[in-house]
Amino acid sequence: TYAVMFLDIDYFKMINDSFGHSVGDRLLQETAHRLLSYVREDDSVIRISGDEFVILMEDLNRPEDATVVVDKVITEFQKEFSFKNHHLKITASMGICFYPQDASEPAELLRNADTAMYRAKKDGRNTYQFYKKEMTTNAFERILLESSLRHAIEKEELYLNYQPQIDLRNKKIIGVEVLLRWNHPSIGIISPAKFIPLAEESGLITDIGEWVLNTACIQAKDWVDRGIEFGRIAVNVAGPQIKRGDLVKSVKANLEETGLPAGRLELEVTEGYIMQHADRAIEQLNEIKGLGVTLAIDDFGTGYSSLSYLKELPIHKLKIDQSFVQDIPNDQNDMAISKAVIALGTSLGLTVIAEGVETQSQAIFLAEADCHEAQGYLYSRPLDKDAVERFLSDYNGM
Ligand code: C2E
Ligand code: MG
Ligand code: MG
Repeated sequence: TYAVMFLDIDYFKMINDSFGHSVGDRLLQETAHRLLSYVREDDSVIRISGDEFVILMEDLNRPEDATVVVDKVITEFQKEFSFKNHHLKITASMGICFYPQDASEPAELLRNADTAMYRAKKDGRNTYQFYKKEMTTNAFERILLESSLRHAIEKEELYLNYQPQIDLRNKKIIGVEVLLRWNHPSIGIISPAKFIPLAEESGLITDIGEWVLNTACIQAKDWVDRGIEFGRIAVNVAGPQIKRGDLVKSVKANLEETGLPAGRLELEVTEGYIMQHADRAIEQLNEIKGLGVTLAIDDFGTGYSSLSYLKELPIHKLKIDQSFVQDIPNDQNDMAISKAVIALGTSLGLTVIAEGVETQSQAIFLAEADCHEAQGYLYSRPLDKDAVERFLSDYNGM
């Protein structure tokens, strides 16, 4: 695997404008020196224009190995620069894509890394993003989708699916995850993987997230009242919902309005978001925990987690990302990672759940590794309201 990293200095133009070009030039030289010191001998650091650098990492054993450089940029790069009598602290935003996974042509690799970097900037700078296919929905499609997404709530095109979660030891149902669906009038059902990123960029995620939380709480309260046992209801929360800072208020209001006991609600936040904004997120997450709501880190293993943060976060559960579960029992690496995550979570006193469990042999491997819980097609696909109610009522262990 090769990694192409696109790195752009944050607010370089401002520095250039306010301190003058000679300082800007020194800064670029110093940046080049620093970057060179973060990479291996065989890697390349290229300045491709203005304040944009590209780092090419060759022959990585695993894509994850690129995070070593990411880590150095985040921790080392922001150390003060001193020239003459100027002392500057600067940061950079990075986008990373991989050859051959993400693209095969050099130009496309660069473009993808640039797209990911652009997302990192939007995410608040001094951070990184791995390239994902969803980042390049074409402009036309985006505009169409975005304008129809604006009206999706009022036109009642959004609805929820529910996927059961199972305790691997006693096979009981311990929860259901809420998964959003959009039934577009002309396109049909659109995957959240496609429209959630759009909703995040356009700010629509606030309204949509609020709708999901409210609808999920109403549904769960209805099940409580009707004696349909489901454990906890797990709701995905997008980064920007935390960023805005009123998630606590919204959770509290929804619990009060619907009468759902807080202990019935779980929120899932992705690892990527939590780790990039741990300082900002931690206070809110603590307050949410204080309400009695539990928190899970979603897609665990795909971001780069700081173990010291992990210890501090008021987290209840780790969800092993489905990419590690998929290739059990064929891929030794993925099995080792799954085991390591289970051991890590357990030693921190957390519950560990595996997502994307499709086969019996995966379930057996995970159970033997002492993974606590599982979720996936093996037990049930995400189901609509009526179907999940039937599932919950008829279920008697597997
Ligand atoms: P996620 O939270 O990690 O959800 C798990 C995804 O894996 C779901 O895809 C689910 O349908 C799928 N899945 C479950 N079991 C299996 C399995 O055995 N095999 C395979 N191959 N896949 C399985 P879905 O529903 O398309 O959702 C994709 C992502 O969209 C979610 O990932 C989540 O990040 C996001 N999302 C979904 N609903 C919401 C929402 O209400 N709010 C926010 N912010 N994000 C949401
Ligand atoms: Mg989830
Ligand atoms: Mg996930």
